[in-house]
Amino acid sequence: MRMATERPGRRLHERARQLVGRALGRSHADRGIGRVSAILILVAVLCTGVTSYVYLNQLVIRDWSEILESERERRAQQLILPMRTQIQMVNALSARNHTAQAMRVYQAGETGAAERTQALLTLQLTAGNLVGVGGLRAVELQSLQGDRIASAAHLPELPTLNVPLAQSRNVLYWDNGFFLRVRSEIVGEDGAAGALIADLELPDAVEALTLTNRLGETGEVGLCGLNGHRKVCLPSRFKREGSVSTVASPATLPSDRALLGGRGTEQVTDYRGHATYSSFQPLEGYGLALIVKMDVAELLAPVRQQVQVGLPLLIFLALAGAAVMRLQLRPLTAELVDARRRADAEVASRTVAEAEIRLANRRLQIVSDNASFLIAFVDPQFVFRFANRAHVEWFGRPIDDIVGRPMEELVGAAMFQDYRQAMALAQATHVPQQVLREMLREVTTRFVEVTFVAQFDGDRNLEGFCISARDATETVLREKTLLLAARRDPLTGLCNRTSFDERLEQALLLRTAASAPLAVAYLDIDHFKQVNDNFGHDVGDELLKLVASRIGAALRHSDTVARLGGDEFGIILPDLAAADDVYTVVAHILESLRQPFFIEAHQIRVSASIGFTIASLGDTRESLVSRSDRALYQVKRSGRNGVFGLSAERTVEFL
Ligand code: GH3
Ligand code: MG
Repeated sequence: MRMATERPGRRLHERARQLVGRALGRSHADRGIGRVSAILILVAVLCTGVTSYVYLNQLVIRDWSEILESERERRAQQLILPMRTQIQMVNALSARNHTAQAMRVYQAGETGAAERTQALLTLQLTAGNLVGVGGLRAVELQSLQGDRIASAAHLPELPTLNVPLAQSRNVLYWDNGFFLRVRSEIVGEDGAAGALIADLELPDAVEALTLTNRLGETGEVGLCGLNGHRKVCLPSRFKREGSVSTVASPATLPSDRALLGGRGTEQVTDYRGHATYSSFQPLEGYGLALIVKMDVAELLAPVRQQVQVGLPLLIFLALAGAAVMRLQLRPLTAELVDARRRADAEVASRTVAEAEIRLANRRLQIVSDNASFLIAFVDPQFVFRFANRAHVEWFGRPIDDIVGRPMEELVGAAMFQDYRQAMALAQATHVPQQVLREMLREVTTRFVEVTFVAQFDGDRNLEGFCISARDATETVLREKTLLLAARRDPLTGLCNRTSFDERLEQALLLRTAASAPLAVAYLDIDHFKQVNDNFGHDVGDELLKLVASRIGAALRHSDTVARLGGDEFGIILPDLAAADDVYTVVAHILESLRQPFFIEAHQIRVSASIGFTIASLGDTRESLVSRSDRALYQVKRSGRNGVFGLSAERTVEFL
């Protein structure tokens, strides 16, 4: 049962939610814009409404203050004029000479009874005649001592609501109507004779104080005065019994303020606690305060009525405006939302991509930092854009100091020139270029092999150069050693045949007609086999080393001796002072070899055969080698242990 009663309510709620949602928009942003525009328009409309309301209020209040002021002025005149007239009238009556005469006669001590009676009669007639004149309802003639002499009608006791008027002995009082008790001195030719007391009705005052035309439902006219310390307010529209109170201090009520001489028109709270718009003033010369007031609620009622009608209209207009605006904006917001979504997706993917790039960069940095060789990238202006940690050790600068620095500053002008050429070549040929440079590092010379690879983008524009540099010192030295080994005889450490041939080629290459004589000699140990046979191969080896040493000792630094194979040696003698010097040299060699060798306690004596030749212009390596070989053969054939020279022109034998 409970479910059954709840379901329609929930459905209704859901339906209302859908309707509001549809009105505000479908998407979150759409709804946001709908809501904001509705609020903005509502605020704008409400501000306009409030401003108009305040302005209208001010207009109404201004109009009403003018009305209240004119009413106050009019009613002040309505009160003052009859009072003044009545007082003047009573004064005129009291000034009648025969009345004063009769008063005097009646009061004189020497006057006879008949005369007094006559005078009293006159006075009674006078009083009787006065009643009914100009609203006089009672008249009393009093002696100088205040005793009643004659009267017409009876002067009533003054009721509570009575106000003595200022600067006179007149009293305004309420006795189911406004009355004025006027006391006027009766003054004759012989001076004051008594007083005339007259009570007069003030119908105009009733009218002035009670008529409410132009003052609406809440308009009220009040008249107050002071009786001693008490404030007496005569009956008015809403205070039919009048009131007796005290003047409040500080004076806030308009009546109090007017009694203290204040005058004005303003919003005040009246004696009933109503918010009223009051216009008040003192009635100068009478000590009275006149107040004309109306409730603010009534003054502003028309405006409030208009607001009551207008406010829903304004709200409707605001909502309608918001709805129209939202309809206008909906395509735009949809576009914006779509653009925002796309931008978000793009930002997200860019963030991922950037994270990946950062990771890749980090990996690259880690990998390159752990490499023992230099890895760098320079842009087309040869400024470092990347450098691995190895640079720190090589250049003694932090990475941050290298990246962004021109290459020339880091490697120096000379090296940069080499590198620049290599990079230009790499860019032109698209082929990596290598440069081997000697560098002084930590007081040792190191060989650095620098490789330049030009990098191009998809449009074949140069992006920069990848540079890798490695310390190739070990390799270079190994290669050099190998190179050396390839040209050395392993047993004696002398040049081998290859090296001999190269040096001979080199020597021939530089030769001209003016060059110093060049001799080539072939030396072969005689009967070397026998040494092997007699003393063993090791001894033979040792002998070969010693022979090599003795030949070397007989030569200059610029000469070359090579072991050509077995027990055969080749000798190049460049830059001879004279061609004949060759004899001296070879003779010296032969002589040194004839000296005994001491190996492993063996004394070994050997001899050698030398064939040589002097180079002529036009000689080649082959021709020189061939002639030397032939010359050597000649010595061997002639019995060994000798020298045979063979030049292009002549043959020389030397034994
Ligand atoms: P000849 O007077 O004609 O020169 O006679 P020879 O005994 O010296 O013979 P030949 O020069 O024709 O041969 C050289 C010999 O030297 C051949 C070989 O047994 C020996 N021999 C070659 N190379 C080596 C080597 O490296 N060590 C040693 N111990 N002997 C070598
Ligand atoms: Mg030999």
